[in-house]
Amino acid sequence: MDGQKNNCPFCSPVVEKATFAESNNFRAVYNIAPILPGHCLIIPKNHLSSLLDIPTTDMTEMMLFSRKIIRVLSKAFGTSSYDWTIQEGQPAGQTIEHLHIHIIPRTADDLPEPGDWHPRLEASEPRLIDSFLRSKYSYAELKSIVEKLSRIFIDQGA
Ligand SMILES: [Zn+2]
Repeated sequence: MDGQKNNCPFCSPVVEKATFAESNNFRAVYNIAPILPGHCLIIPKNHLSSLLDIPTTDMTEMMLFSRKIIRVLSKAFGTSSYDWTIQEGQPAGQTIEHLHIHIIPRTADDLPEPGDWHPRLEASEPRLIDSFLRSKYSYAELKSIVEKLSRIFIDQGA
């Protein structure tokens, strides 16, 4: 497939099963190993490693699409709080060389301290790869949440 890379979990057909919304060049994927309910990923459809690789002409699309996804998550998970982060480069914790923006809905007292999401994120990345490659996740559960989020995305006229 054009723009795809072998052995990349985000270029694998498996990722389509976890996709609940798409724009022309990006997709929103429910994280198969969420650190909190609603933990999603925005990824470019093409295999691009860095934010610096995203064509300038796609930057607005990426941000507007991400905002739509935040609205979907707000509705689905009953909150207007979220963390979002990009880990760029191995020293920053990037374990999959395909750009991904983590969006994590937050609610009061969901973690002992608001900043506790970060060590959990670090610990979850290897599981995320493992899950995508080995398909250990329950697809019935994944399908259910992907369908729910997809309906909200469509309902909001995205
Ligand atoms: Zn890839």
